[in-house]
Amino acid sequence: MMSKFLHTKYSSLTPYDTSGEVESMKGYIRLNTNESPFPPSPKVLAATLEASRGLNYYCDPECSQLAGKIASMYSLKPSQIVFGNGSDEILNFLFMAFCENGAAFPNITYSFYKILAKFHGVDYIPVPLKNFRVDPSYYKDVKGRTIFIANPNAPTSLAMSLSEIEEILTSNPESLVVIDEAYVDFGAESAVTLLPKYSNLVITRTFSKSRSLAGARLGWCMTSEEITKDIKDIKNTLTPYNINSMTQAAGLGALDDEEYTRRNIDMIRMVRDNTKSRLREMGFDVMDSSTNFLFAKHETVSGEEIFNTLKKYRIMIRHFSNPLMIADYNRITIGTPEQMQIFLEVIKGVIENEKE
Ligand code: PMP
Repeated sequence: MMSKFLHTKYSSLTPYDTSGEVESMKGYIRLNTNESPFPPSPKVLAATLEASRGLNYYCDPECSQLAGKIASMYSLKPSQIVFGNGSDEILNFLFMAFCENGAAFPNITYSFYKILAKFHGVDYIPVPLKNFRVDPSYYKDVKGRTIFIANPNAPTSLAMSLSEIEEILTSNPESLVVIDEAYVDFGAESAVTLLPKYSNLVITRTFSKSRSLAGARLGWCMTSEEITKDIKDIKNTLTPYNINSMTQAAGLGALDDEEYTRRNIDMIRMVRDNTKSRLREMGFDVMDSSTNFLFAKHETVSGEEIFNTLKKYRIMIRHFSNPLMIADYNRITIGTPEQMQIFLEVIKGVIENEKE
């Protein structure tokens, strides 16, 4: 129930469901929120500790060191990069800044797009998927709306090719096209190479997945200098110090240990493909994931039953009761080999019990 002091424009908000991330999940195997099961690199820990000594000073509002580093990684200028408190904050700025003509995004995708559209009063069209894939031909008549595509998409785990992304960019020169690459490191091709060619392209990235920093909240955006300036003006108006010094240091520490990130990505991909095969043997329909999670449904046991039974065994996966067409699916984050071994044993029991 709202207080009598709340502005009426906020009386019917639908906040993002963070119930999967709460403290009460301690002691559970957490395969429900697509984090990395691996702790941050030792270089992150050292850099963060060092930064904590300077917490009496405000942090660098430009994140200059991080911007320099990322710019050189992708052959861009630092003035093409802006950081957010998680890529969620970047997405918020994008919905605020560039959706005067509305937005368009897949009807099954990251739920935050819809939440932000509603919050900012942005008129949006949910574009259907075709066999669970984003089909560029469905984005030919969006009339200047800003297009948001997660590549790979969540929760479906499927990736688009760069030529499909180019098809969307070329058929919508009057639209901004935002490619959310939260999961790109696990098997898709980044659109960053297309930046010099398309002035309507915006790419968002995060340190939350492959770089094990979900709790530090660090994401970034790569686009033209002009668009970056617009986003920075909004950021510097609302939250100039949005990335605290420890998080900036954590990000730098992670970028200093790309070898560690690479090893973790390789491990997650190996465990993912192994888990996928095992689930298929048990009668699951599992999509070909390019991410750090699997999207799967069983031929006979309902998604809800699988979710509920695993929960009794203190294993959390993500079940979607909405929209209805994915109610039989669950999204399973890839954990450590040990966690996935336990998961597979329990799920085998669930399926066999059901058959008896
Ligand atoms: N985009 C997608 C597709 C996601 O799944 C997530 C993670 N929930 C995010 C963006 C946001 O990640 P973060 O704010 O942690 O960078």
